[in-house]
Amino acid sequence: MTYDLHTHSTYSDGTTSVEANVRDALAIGLAGLGVTDHDTTDPFDEAMAAADGTGLEIVPGTEFSAELDGFSVHVLGYWIDPQHAELVAELARLRNEREDRARAIVDRFRDLGIDLDFARVQALAGDAPIGRPHIAQAVVETGAAPDLRMVFDTWLADGGPAYVEKHAVTPVRAVELLTAAGGVAVLAHPGLYGAAVEPGRGDGSDGADGRALGPGLDATVVEQMAAAGLAGIEADHPDHTGGHRSRYRDLATALGLEVTAGSDYHGAGKDNPLGSATTSRDVVERLRARR
Ligand code: AMP
Ligand code: FE
Ligand code: FE
Ligand code: ZN
Repeated sequence: MTYDLHTHSTYSDGTTSVEANVRDALAIGLAGLGVTDHDTTDPFDEAMAAADGTGLEIVPGTEFSAELDGFSVHVLGYWIDPQHAELVAELARLRNEREDRARAIVDRFRDLGIDLDFARVQALAGDAPIGRPHIAQAVVETGAAPDLRMVFDTWLADGGPAYVEKHAVTPVRAVELLTAAGGVAVLAHPGLYGAAVEPGRGDGSDGADGRALGPGLDATVVEQMAAAGLAGIEADHPDHTGGHRSRYRDLATALGLEVTAGSDYHGAGKDNPLGSATTSRDVVERLRARR
C-alpha cells in the first residue's frame, strides 16, 4: 500500500496527461498518487475524476516555487485549498513572473546565438505555467543541443549562463502560505539545491557510486522552515545519493518531521519512473493528521 507523492503532468512540465498518470499508477499497483504540478492546482478536478471509482487515492498538491540566494527551492503542499485567496494570488503572480522570466531566458539564448522563438515556448507550455523544461525543449528543436539534459548542463541549470531567477517567495514564506491554505508543507528533494542540479540529473544509484548532486539545503534553512510549520522532508528522491538520504532522514528525525518519498515523475521515458520512490500509507496518514 504505497503512495508516489511527487508527480508532474502536462499541467506543468510533465509530458503525460493526468489521466495517463492515474492509469499508470493503477497499473503498477500504487494505493495513492500525489498530483504535484509546479505552481498550480489546476489538475485537481481532472485527477479526482480520473481516479473516481478506481480505488486510487489522489493526494492533491502543488510543487510550489520558492527562491533563496538565487537558487530554486521547491516546497510541496498537500491538501491545500485551491480557492484560498492568498494562495490563488501568489500562484497567479508566479505564473506571470514565469512568463516574464521565460522571455528573459529566451533573450539570453538569443544573445548566446541560439535562435529561439518565444511563441514556440508558449505553444509547448500550452495552459501550463512556463517552466525551464518547455524552454529546453524549444532549444532542442532548434538543433542547438541533442537533448534536454545537454541544454540544462550547458546553459539552463541554476546559475547557468541562460538561468534567470523567478523572484519567488522564500522557502519559509512558502511553508507559511501552504499551511495557511489548509495544507501540509513538505520540503522537496533537499539534496538538489545550491548547485546546478534538479530532477533528471541523478544516475539513479544510491550510495557510494552516486554522483554528488551539490551540497544540498543547509540545515539552518530547514530548521527555519520547521519553525514555520514544515511537516515533512522528501529525503527519499531518486536523484538523492545515499548520503543525502541519511542526512535528511536524520534531520527530519531531529526536527520531528515526517520522511516522505516521491519519484518526481515527469513523463514516460524520462529518468525517474512513476513509483520509483514511494511513501507508506502510515506516513501519509501521519502527514494528513498534521493538517
Ligand atoms: P523552473 O520551475 O522553470 O525553474 O524549472 C524547474 C524544473 O526544471 C524542474 O522541476 C525540473 O523539471 C527541471 N530542471 C531544473 N534543473 C534541471 C537540471 N539541472 N536538469 C534537468 N532538469 C532540470
Ligand atoms: Fe519539473
Ligand atoms: Fe522540484
Ligand atoms: Zn517535481
